[in-house]
Amino acid sequence: MARVLIVGAGIGGDSLALLLGRAGWDVTVAEIAPSLRTGGQTVDLRGDSRDVLERMGLLETCLERLVPQRGAAWIDAAGHPQAEMPVSAFDGQGLVSSHELLRSDLSRILNDAAARHATYRFADTVTALTGTRATFRSDGATEDFDLVVGADGAHSRVRTLAFGPEADYRKPLGLAHAWFTLVEQPTTPALDGWFLIHHAPGSRVVEARPGHPGEQEIGFTFPAANLPPRSDRQAQLTLLDTVFTDVGWRTRELLTAARTAPDFAFDTYDQILMPHWTHGNVALLGDSAWCASPLSGLGTALALQGAESLAAALLTHADPAAAFAEYESQMRPRVTTAQKMFPGRVKAAAPRTPLGIRTNALVMRLVQTPPVAAALTHLMRPEIPTPTPQPS
Ligand SMILES: Cc1cc2nc3c(=O)[nH]c(=O)nc-3n(C[C@H](O)[C@H](O)[C@H](O)COP(=O)(O)OP(=O)(O)OC[C@H]3O[C@@H](n4cnc5c(N)ncnc54)[C@H](O)[C@@H]3O)c2cc1C
Repeated sequence: MARVLIVGAGIGGDSLALLLGRAGWDVTVAEIAPSLRTGGQTVDLRGDSRDVLERMGLLETCLERLVPQRGAAWIDAAGHPQAEMPVSAFDGQGLVSSHELLRSDLSRILNDAAARHATYRFADTVTALTGTRATFRSDGATEDFDLVVGADGAHSRVRTLAFGPEADYRKPLGLAHAWFTLVEQPTTPALDGWFLIHHAPGSRVVEARPGHPGEQEIGFTFPAANLPPRSDRQAQLTLLDTVFTDVGWRTRELLTAARTAPDFAFDTYDQILMPHWTHGNVALLGDSAWCASPLSGLGTALALQGAESLAAALLTHADPAAAFAEYESQMRPRVTTAQKMFPGRVKAAAPRTPLGIRTNALVMRLVQTPPVAAALTHLMRPEIPTPTPQPS
């Protein structure tokens, strides 16, 4: 039974902590935030995530937290829908599904389960790694572990300490995004279950989607040029104000709300490309190893699969080298597929011109016309199994 340090209490880190802790391993998790991080948009329970959560015994709990959603709608500056895609589109395989829960709820469910089997050090991280000897920031103490796993996101400190600088592995996709939770006021326009997307010229996107009752999850996407440091909140808010100053719809209201949001977050759309995810007895998991970017829509599925794969390999092989080889061979094909983007994917996420924006709405309507929808539904079916109905 090994002693393992997991850095990062996110989706991957908590999943691994649960699986190894349950098997009797001595698990410590160091999370830099003072408590479990909240915020973030929805996580899709179609396909692989569902299967992993079922094997973990957490699917039923997740299904109790589904967000009631009616679909996605692309709206113009006056708030009028230009295209809609209900959750029923493509036999339930469309952009938004009725099988989604908030990332923060999934994170809480995983953490509640893992906390029974692991020791958590919140508001802490590692400042140095010598092999698997870790120095903790909170008290400067040094501890020896058999294994160290970096599950600390796309800007992983473990990766920097054990594998080298982020710039060696980061592939920026040219967009940035900001997101936060809006607490509805009596004057806040209701979403009525719709995920609303407003495209403005200049590759700017403003989104509002359903969250917990009384809340909306807000997102801004824009071209990533001359960004302020990730730690400078004030400069980020000022940049958002500048970039979105002339954008219509609810943009003014949402920019104001961003200023007081407790979970405001800001980052670039990046991929992390690494030839290997392990070095000695240090391994990377999730976004720290292979961030596919939010555009892939697969970050959570990969983190869950990666945790399951790494745990199974470690529990099977006494030799970490053999376990890591199995982990890499299982995850590499999935990651390679997830990181492949069809040509024009980034531009399609944020069309630049008024013509591009109109074309996007037209395409969203066209793909739902009966003959095209039937063909696309057929094409999608082998890849994404139809979810079973949610228990009432
Ligand atoms: C609050 C939040 C909101 C998100 N919202 C979205 C979203 O809306 N859409 C989307 O596509 N993806 C979102 N993500 C990313 C998404 O969770 C991941 O892509 C995916 O789940 C992979 O999980 P992961 O475990 O690799 O990383 P994450 O789930 O991101 O977890 C990483 C964890 O590591 C912690 N951490 C970071 N640095 C350190 C450090 N130096 N030391 C210790 N701990 C550290 C973080 O606080 C976090 O808890 C969000 C992530 C977070 C943390």
